[in-house]
Amino acid sequence: MIPSVLPTYNRAPLSFVKGEGSWLFEADGRRFLDLGAGIAVNALGHAHPALVDAINTQASQLWHVSNLYQIPQQQELADTLVDSTFADTAFFTNSGTESCELAVKMARKYWHDKGQPERTEIVTFEGSFHGRSSAGIAAAGSEKMTNGFGPLLPGFTHLAFGDHDAVRAAITDKTAAVLIEPIQGEGGIRPVPDQCLKGLRDLCDETGTLLIFDEVQCGVGRTGKLFAHEWAGITPDIMMVAKGIGGGFPLGAVLATEDAASGMTAGTHGSTYGGNPLGCAVGNAVLKIVKDPAFLDDVNRKAGLLRQKLEGLIAAHPDVFDSVRGQGLMLGLKCKATNVDVVQAGYAEGLLTVPAADNVIRLLPALTITEDEIAEATHRLDKAATSLSQKAA
Ligand SMILES: *Cc1c(COP(=O)(O)O)cnc(C)c1O
Repeated sequence: MIPSVLPTYNRAPLSFVKGEGSWLFEADGRRFLDLGAGIAVNALGHAHPALVDAINTQASQLWHVSNLYQIPQQQELADTLVDSTFADTAFFTNSGTESCELAVKMARKYWHDKGQPERTEIVTFEGSFHGRSSAGIAAAGSEKMTNGFGPLLPGFTHLAFGDHDAVRAAITDKTAAVLIEPIQGEGGIRPVPDQCLKGLRDLCDETGTLLIFDEVQCGVGRTGKLFAHEWAGITPDIMMVAKGIGGGFPLGAVLATEDAASGMTAGTHGSTYGGNPLGCAVGNAVLKIVKDPAFLDDVNRKAGLLRQKLEGLIAAHPDVFDSVRGQGLMLGLKCKATNVDVVQAGYAEGLLTVPAADNVIRLLPALTITEDEIAEATHRLDKAATSLSQKAA
């Protein structure tokens, strides 16, 4: 008999009733150090007082009004994002995949309105993840996500990760945009080197192609900059945001330059819930904290510490771990043991990590994790690795 919850997830036998900072608690009081943070969603940890206050205050005043009216919380969030990024304008969504939908629509509408309606193709990359909507799965193109769901949304060209010549060859007079994660998340924390992002920007400038960054996972302070592409010193034309920006409340956004957004006039797109007062009040509270340069400095400092400890762990357990990669507090530990076994050994030690492709476990802690918690996390990972080695021996 089919479970009452549609069984599209293989769930671990863990169930949490409470969260506090970097910790999650089961009903019996057992606590877990959370290095998954809802897959990079709980950017400020669980039950951060500023977010609890923001949601409580807003909930007692006004949850939802239609986008038929002015929404001051949405206006404030848009102004903050425009002031802090390359963007001139923002549209709010409730998830990453909705942001993907709009990014694709916006790129195609751009060329339609510029009198080149044949420019509809979007170039994307192997190992990418852009969500589970029809545009999202067509963009990523992996067999695992698309099998059985055809016919797929047409107009996506999938290239090998890191093949520069292929990108140059793939951009034609039919290309609308290149869509890329500056650091692949689900794909196994695979960073695109700065010089490649710069090269991509140059190539897009030469050919007039729009450059879309998917910063759903790597954005909002995760890498130690407000957005990951800032490390490369270049900007996109359109950017997808979600996950961390809501700190746990479903909130996403598409940011764009004035030119890239020029096709999106009244009536061309919309969302019932997108940009509602409750979500935007939380988003404002998140950004107020995360965009503070002192907060980002602290993320970078702690990231250095965690990375150093992980290097030690790899040296101590060469049979379990292979290498560490990523940026800031978006780190991937490539494993020699099977990654899901490492994740499960972590559960036994009260530690939560998240598997990804390429036999990687992801460490995506709350950006507010403390130095003591980093030491504790490493200690627990060390114990998990030791128990795995003992099992194998
Ligand atoms: C999670 C994710 C998405 C999809 O976000 P949802 O909120 O699950 O729709 C899209 N792109 C990237 C890079 C992601 O990590």
